[in-house]
Amino acid sequence: MILATRNLHKVRELDEILPAAGLRPLPDEVESPPETGVTFEENALIKARSAREATGEAVIADDSGLEVDALGGRPGVYSARYAGEGATDGENLGKVLSDLAAANGGDQSGSARYVCVIALVDDSGEHLFRGTCEGRIVRQPRGDGGFGYDPAFVPDATGPDDQRTMAELSPEEKNAISHRGAAAQQLADHLADV
Ligand code: IMP
Repeated sequence: MILATRNLHKVRELDEILPAAGLRPLPDEVESPPETGVTFEENALIKARSAREATGEAVIADDSGLEVDALGGRPGVYSARYAGEGATDGENLGKVLSDLAAANGGDQSGSARYVCVIALVDDSGEHLFRGTCEGRIVRQPRGDGGFGYDPAFVPDATGPDDQRTMAELSPEEKNAISHRGAAAQQLADHLADV
């Protein structure tokens, strides 16, 4: 099964969650399509359909991002390019924190969630799996694990006494509660059923 992404963090995380799928990255010569959708579902399908067309193999693609309530759900599908095309994780996170402070009268914290939609396109057709991970954005980024917004995201699932950010959890701890883990588990259940 091909995983239609060039994001190595995602390949590693999904491979840890779905070792039996034997995920292979998109071959270098296959171009990635522009992500023109306005929902995670649309973008995941755009990526999966295009990789399916190019390879003819069973393909999965994911689209994911962070929704911050005080920002009306932004950055959402624009999470990877919130501070502009080619922006670094640090620049995107800096913009979320400053926008949050502007929206919240100086307070940089607030409720948020990660969302991940995995699209599977195979001989049986198209299937979508959605996972979420509730939490909140904190003022002081901390931790070296994960990627993206993880240093400023404290998940609810670890309990109120655990203030570690997603970037301070082990990969196993993150996978057990993450949006990507939840979507991948649904995919695994689907694959086990067929
Ligand atoms: P995509 O490649 O279009 O799905 O963009 C995903 C973007 O959402 C990433 O570049 C990150 O900014 C953010 N994101 C998605 N999942 C995670 C995660 O598990 N941790 C931190 N940031 C994430």
